[in-house]
Amino acid sequence: KRAKDAGLAQTMVYTNDLAADVRSRARLLHSLRSGYESGQFFLAYQPQIDLVDERLIGAEALLRWRAADGTMIPPASFIPIAEKSGLIVDMGRWLLREALLARHRLSAATGSELRMAVNVSAVQVRRPDFSSMVIEVLRETATPAAALEIEITESVAIAGIEAVIAQFAALRQLGVTVALDDFGTGYSSLSYLERLPIDRLKIDRSFVLGLEFDQGQRIARTIIVLGKEMGLKIIAEGVESPALRDRVVEIGCHEAQGYHFARPMIEREFIDWFQRRQVNPG
Ligand code: C2E
Ligand code: CA
Ligand code: CA
Repeated sequence: KRAKDAGLAQTMVYTNDLAADVRSRARLLHSLRSGYESGQFFLAYQPQIDLVDERLIGAEALLRWRAADGTMIPPASFIPIAEKSGLIVDMGRWLLREALLARHRLSAATGSELRMAVNVSAVQVRRPDFSSMVIEVLRETATPAAALEIEITESVAIAGIEAVIAQFAALRQLGVTVALDDFGTGYSSLSYLERLPIDRLKIDRSFVLGLEFDQGQRIARTIIVLGKEMGLKIIAEGVESPALRDRVVEIGCHEAQGYHFARPMIEREFIDWFQRRQVNPG
């Protein structure tokens, strides 16, 4: 099974290591489920900034898991398991609701209608009821559709491009926007980009880091040209320093998130951060 997951024509040798890995995966899935049921999951919100006026425009919701023994387990280790087990479908609905309820409170606290970006897995999009689920949660939380941005990666295309187009058509008609995350790091072809129903390209952190070097600027610049050519808005992630912020602006990108502005924060910290920033801008 592992060999199949790795792709065609792969061989895997069964070792004790692999057995240990399978056991620890099973254990992780067990604690994932019980952790979810006992409320160990919460969201952190990372501000998104308009680089022209440094104004807060929104936030990306990022899932956090504090396990029973207090350790924080990174999403990169548990999301794939939540996806494989299908738990991500339940969790995805729950976290969308959480994020949109928080959006109301954060908008009230900051005095502007914030946009909330929520990450969505291919497993979720593949469900025929995905768009109706989103519409239901928008209604339940009384959220204007335009205040929700859904972040997908190129991997959603594996759900079948036709299915993806159908799912997002209804949502975008309502005003929900779609951002393509991690663009350029996957394997899909540029022809997907043309067909994917998206509004915004998110420049991956790896390309933003490359802006520090002359050579590294080329990919980020090209992504921006490509995105603009296709009528897409652009946001940069992983802006960690004032120098990178300046580079990002120089190459024509006007929205960003990253440690330079703020790390992902729980709701209370987010509001504190905002208030500190009002008093002491820059
Ligand atoms: P992502 O969607 O690309 O999220 C951005 C990641 O970059 C986050 O890591 C964030 O904390 C980190 N980051 C933000 N600014 C900076 C920076 O300036 N420098 C550096 N080095 N890192 C920065 P995180 O929270 O560990 O999330 C990792 C990945 O887990 C996400 O990547 C996303 O693919 C997945 N994930 C997180 N939450 C969810 C969720 O609710 N649903 C789904 N399906 N996936 C999620
Ligand atoms: Ca994301
Ligand atoms: Ca990303």
